[in-house]
Amino acid sequence: MGKINLKTTVVESREQRLGTVVAWDGKASKLSEASLYSSGCGGDGKGCELCEIRGPFSQGSVCSEQMVECQAGHVRDAVLIQHAPVGCALGQVDYNSLYRNGLAMRNQPVENLRVTCSNLIESDMIFGGSNRLAQSIQDVYDRYRPKVIFISTSCATAIIGDDIDGTATEYEEKLGIPVIPLHCEGFRSKHWSTGFDSTQHGILRQIVRKNPEKQGDLVNVINLWGSDVFTPILAELNLRVNYVVDLATVEDLAQMSEAACTVGFCYTLSSYLAAGLEQEYGVPEIKAPQPYGFAGTDAWIREIGRVTDREELAESYIAKEHARVKPKLKELKKKLKGLKGFVATGSAYAHGLISVLRELGIETDASLVFHHDPVYDSGDSRQDSLGYLIENYGDIASFSVSNRQQYQFYALLQRTHPDFILIRHNGLAPLASRLGIPAAPLGDEHIAVGYNGMINLGETILDIIAHKKFHEDLSQHVKLPYKKWWLNQEDPYILAKEPDLIETI
Ligand code: SF4
Repeated sequence: MGKINLKTTVVESREQRLGTVVAWDGKASKLSEASLYSSGCGGDGKGCELCEIRGPFSQGSVCSEQMVECQAGHVRDAVLIQHAPVGCALGQVDYNSLYRNGLAMRNQPVENLRVTCSNLIESDMIFGGSNRLAQSIQDVYDRYRPKVIFISTSCATAIIGDDIDGTATEYEEKLGIPVIPLHCEGFRSKHWSTGFDSTQHGILRQIVRKNPEKQGDLVNVINLWGSDVFTPILAELNLRVNYVVDLATVEDLAQMSEAACTVGFCYTLSSYLAAGLEQEYGVPEIKAPQPYGFAGTDAWIREIGRVTDREELAESYIAKEHARVKPKLKELKKKLKGLKGFVATGSAYAHGLISVLRELGIETDASLVFHHDPVYDSGDSRQDSLGYLIENYGDIASFSVSNRQQYQFYALLQRTHPDFILIRHNGLAPLASRLGIPAAPLGDEHIAVGYNGMINLGETILDIIAHKKFHEDLSQHVKLPYKKWWLNQEDPYILAKEPDLIETI
């Protein structure tokens, strides 16, 4: 794998680093084979085997800038300036509610987020927006006295070419705090997860302490806003948790270089930051499967035990949890028998959730991920989460990659007719409801982590199945917004394979 390059302010996009694709269709085992657990063309001398399906249009998506908004914008004592037209700031409403809920879940004082927008207008597109950015930096500093100011770029600033790095450097010297440009304009990358990497790149360059004093019992946990499930797990190994990036303080981010190791709940999110911490500061990233199901959690705990010299504690925790959880799981499996599930979430997270569904005895013959990274930044095959899923829990006959295309989601659900779906980006859930399928929206992304995660997810599924009749009734009284031609289509990707069809339908 290529080295992470912190010399430049601009992060390399996912497709450049990892060979990321956003559309693909077939068996999970085919996707894994074609990926070669490498970044694509030329990997292992076998050439590029992972070919993306290129559709003629996109019905909707998310952009990298929004991921910066929900990461950099959720650092508690920092401020994010969106250097953008006000339309890019629409996400502030949603992200404020996520921030407030996240703080409440972690027992932190609830407050509004501090994200502002420089509000570029037509004349700025002609004469440049640097003055407006400079004014915004001074204004947020005077108003909030933050410890760090982040600046996110936008499609508009990329077009007009404002010198954002120059303005950031000028104000960093003037104010005496880090002023960090995050290059994340929406059209720079085809997948929004590049926005995670952009935020993490800026943090690695300008916040993480360069002369760390080691804290041998501290573990960086790269996560979003989920409930605090990692503290009790890692406490069993006498380890303390350092949650980053969302809901962290600037000091939490600075001390990442002092930790004993780094873990995450999902490699899609944690890949870049964890690899960067290892490369630049020697903080080992835990190279193991993700902590889902017995197989993944056992291997994950063992690797943490090995890296932190706590192997005995790890083994006794594993034995204790197996004895506690297995009888409960047996009971749950009886209640869940005969159900069919469908997962529609981010990539690596889906691999973990499918493992848990299979531990619960739930049939999962089809699922959807919003993108696919053929490899993660460490390049270490112990992190090959898709390969690990297939090897330990079997193949998935229909494993599709689609970046939130509603029309494809409809056809994908028609293939398998699941009893319920697990979903993270809720925009797709109403469509499932209209088809009579209830969805668990997984607002708390930590719900399925670890041994207890299997019980949590099983109970959540029982709850949503109890509402199935409501969704079935709904499906009898709604009309879908598609033509009969599309409603009868069996191949969700037919328009990508035969784009000329658009002219004829
Ligand atoms: S795609 Fe571009 S214009 Fe749209 S929200 Fe993202 S940065 Fe703004």
